Amino acid sequence: MAKSNKGDFLSPKAVANRQKMKGLQKLKFYCQLCEKQCRDQNGFKQHCSSEAHLRQVAVFGENSGRFIKGYSEQFLANFLDMMAVSHRNTRIKATVAYNEYIGNKTHVHMNSTKWTTLTEFVKYLGREKLCDIEETAKGWFITYKPRDKEEQLRDRMEMEKRRKEEDEETRMANVLARQIAKQNKKGGEEKKEERKADAIDLDDGEREKINLHVVSGGLNNALENSEKKRKDIVDFSNAGGMFSNKKMKTGGKEEGKAAFKKRKKLKWMLRENIVCRKTETGEKGTVVRVNVEDREADVKLKESGSVVENVDEDEFEPVCPGVGGKCAVVRNHDFVGEEGKVLGVDGNTGEVTIESFKRGIQFKAKSSDVARLV
Ligand SMILES: [Zn+2]
Repeated sequence: MAKSNKGDFLSPKAVANRQKMKGLQKLKFYCQLCEKQCRDQNGFKQHCSSEAHLRQVAVFGENSGRFIKGYSEQFLANFLDMMAVSHRNTRIKATVAYNEYIGNKTHVHMNSTKWTTLTEFVKYLGREKLCDIEETAKGWFITYKPRDKEEQLRDRMEMEKRRKEEDEETRMANVLARQIAKQNKKGGEEKKEERKADAIDLDDGEREKINLHVVSGGLNNALENSEKKRKDIVDFSNAGGMFSNKKMKTGGKEEGKAAFKKRKKLKWMLRENIVCRKTETGEKGTVVRVNVEDREADVKLKESGSVVENVDEDEFEPVCPGVGGKCAVVRNHDFVGEEGKVLGVDGNTGEVTIESFKRGIQFKAKSSDVARLV
């Protein structure tokens, strides 16, 4: 740590340093759980015995591991973001970087991360090769290496994305395989039936004709004729009145398949009990049935009470609740599926702050990606 010269006690720098120190000390009295800053030891003590705080602690106790992991990740990400913006490739004192970092009022406080001291955090940065670190008589210095970190981050994100895609692909492949198997089984049965029908429904005269082909042909032509016979059967099947019925049925099935193909994969209507709105008319409704495999979602319209089956989700949009409302993130977010309570709405950015029910953490999402839960 830098030692200030006694003679410089009143120099602007020393005063500023002391002020910073004061700011730093205050962190001790910040409760990350409640995101509450207390002014001094006494206030902090009082806060710690308050009912609101104890409730938070109880929630925290149930999944403290997750909290600390979440805060640590956030702390690290924010810190590296700051480094990326302000100190690319610059050797900088760790305390200076840290002070700059905590200058942001909304920063995640270190006392809620897995790092108990700045030194520990710096060592972590070095170990993870996120920064070059160096210990000197003046304290720790760090050099942020953007390429490495960004590459690493990109790699990590890429990997994550690939894994998600693979998961999705395997799932889709399984679904398709199942459907194909089902289709084949059905198709096979139908073909067999058809063949049987061919054999039965040819009247005797026609069958004789076929037989005649075979018989009249010389041995050399037997193969060719049997081929022809097969063709003949096909021709008959096309000509026969009874088959037109079957043909229509097959046609219908193909149409169904085409419609399925045309129906888009569900993008956000992936769960029931979310509130949506018909974009054009503003009519509200609730998703009452979802079949992800068949790409179907039914919406019960609020006003008429009628259920619209197989809706086109593009004609709808999620309805975000107001402050205090229960909601679920439905799209364009790392936390899709997360349920929580809306804590605040930012009219400027259109973002809402959500507190996750399960994880207790708070995060932001675009209100257009959030739907009210019923
Ligand atoms: Zn608290």
